Amino acid sequence: MVSSAIASRSGPDLRAAYDVVVVGAGPVGLTLALLLADRGVSVGILEARTTPEQQGSKALCMQRETLEIWHSIGIGERVAQLGTAWSVGRTYFRDTELFSITLPGSSGEHFPPFVNISQSEVEQALVQRALAHEHVTIHYGQTMVGVGQDDEAVTLAGVLSESSSYGADVDDPVRQGDRPMPDGVRRITGRYAVAADGARSQVRRLLGIDFPGHTHADRFLIADIRAELPFPAERRFWFDPPFNPGRAVLIHPQPDGIWRIDWQVPGDFDLDAERESGRLEQRIRQIIGDVDYAEVWLTVYRFHQRCAGTWRQGRVLLAGDAAHLMSPFGARGLNSGVADSANLAWKLEHVLAGRTPESLLDSYCDERLAAAQENLAVTEETMRFMAPPPDFRAERDAILRASTTDPIARAAVNSGRLATPMIYAGGLFPAHRPGDPELVGTVLADARTEDGSRLRQCLTSAAGRWLALTVGARSPAVPDGVVVLADDSPAVRSIYAPDGSARSYLIRPDGYVAACTDPTREDVRAAWLAGTAAQP
Ligand SMILES: Cc1cc2nc3c(=O)[nH]c(=O)nc-3n(C[C@H](O)[C@H](O)[C@H](O)COP(=O)(O)OP(=O)(O)OC[C@H]3O[C@@H](n4cnc5c(N)ncnc54)[C@H](O)[C@@H]3O)c2cc1C
Repeated sequence: MVSSAIASRSGPDLRAAYDVVVVGAGPVGLTLALLLADRGVSVGILEARTTPEQQGSKALCMQRETLEIWHSIGIGERVAQLGTAWSVGRTYFRDTELFSITLPGSSGEHFPPFVNISQSEVEQALVQRALAHEHVTIHYGQTMVGVGQDDEAVTLAGVLSESSSYGADVDDPVRQGDRPMPDGVRRITGRYAVAADGARSQVRRLLGIDFPGHTHADRFLIADIRAELPFPAERRFWFDPPFNPGRAVLIHPQPDGIWRIDWQVPGDFDLDAERESGRLEQRIRQIIGDVDYAEVWLTVYRFHQRCAGTWRQGRVLLAGDAAHLMSPFGARGLNSGVADSANLAWKLEHVLAGRTPESLLDSYCDERLAAAQENLAVTEETMRFMAPPPDFRAERDAILRASTTDPIARAAVNSGRLATPMIYAGGLFPAHRPGDPELVGTVLADARTEDGSRLRQCLTSAAGRWLALTVGARSPAVPDGVVVLADDSPAVRSIYAPDGSARSYLIRPDGYVAACTDPTREDVRAAWLAGTAAQP
């Protein structure tokens, strides 16, 4: 799909032109690249790291919807099989269990609510797929240092990550015109570019996009250790436990006998001093006892709450941590970044294919900004309870003390609200019609179809096209780019037509229910036009 317009504009040093250039081969950039590539879009990725190997892990809890998205690009099953499934989370105050939650699942659903697996292992699976994909090229060891754009394309300047001096101002390669770039600088062009270059996004900085928010004072010590422990495969969270008085501890299971222990520590915590003094060893022993263990990964983090002021500047869009940054309690960082990719991929593909106007990209910004704001609000509430500011500390402590006996206090305890797929409301999606199940703006609830398949599988098979799920009626004729699925299985009916009346649901390629209409050709077409911002 690379346009000849771009190819003909190539200067002598322009070595690569793609439909889309992605900056950053993290989980968000790789997921986006694969979603696009599976739809025939050519993608070039600029990655500053020199190899795919990643030290350490960061994210751990992969949500069901994320697995579904990965399933559509061929790695969902593998990640789920390699990971540790869990569905129970317990919260304690000191030695007393306050409550437990069991995450909902249903027999129609393919993946468990959450799978724990290290981010680096997921990235390896994504990289393997990307390296084998004919439409993806990863330029490792290329640090993006410049970005410019005009009416037709975005041009990025990349330098070898190992060389820090490239001698000239390449902030805006478009301004350089056809002049050759300095030695060691590569120009890469795409019709669109996506900044998936993480929290310290250079693209965001070069575009002058602000990233307001704040940083939490407390820090978190994270130890992934390998040990044979009699711990359950559950998320367990303690406030003020004997093994970390006054602060919190979180324990998570991982595959291969690895456990993540996450201690809240003071802002001036010094890991080297902790290790040298033997206090680190004591910390671990207080939790695991006298069992052999090996350190797998150890680090100290400070968490941030930030959101970019704008997510699109012309042909450049932000996604993932480049656009939003939040504390990981609730597992909303990577999971929402992957949802950004799913939202953006089909929109970029539709725009590139000329199916819809470019303004469709603004709906990416509106929808995912709303999701980021919700995630930031939820995680901020958790952090406020976990690391209370001085004016809330006494009240927080009183809530915790009361929570062992008082159900109202217990309900106010916040140890993290786990990620769920965004529900789009508030005018972002058309309102549902009276009498229809309130599914518009939600992600497709999975169910077995008449032929024993699953709705999600049917969506994957639609390969980037919309699905018109029609229940209780013959299939309406649909516009190009829409696949009809007429199904009357009891499982599908119970969710989509509980009152028995015939309906069509328009399902977007990212799995969202965009509209519920009468199953007529005109209504389905009108709903599709509205959902793609296309002109009738
Ligand atoms: C301790 C911890 C635990 C977490 N746990 C969870 C969890 O359980 N669940 C969850 O959902 N989230 C979790 N998160 C958040 C999650 O790790 C991030 O949201 C996720 O890494 C974001 O992915 P990304 O692809 O946007 O960015 P990144 O993973 O940061 O990837 C960005 C990529 O861009 C590259 N890059 C950067 N600058 C340039 C440049 N100038 N040129 C070229 N390449 C560049 C980097 O090398 C990197 O490969 C956790 C985070 C932390 C710190």
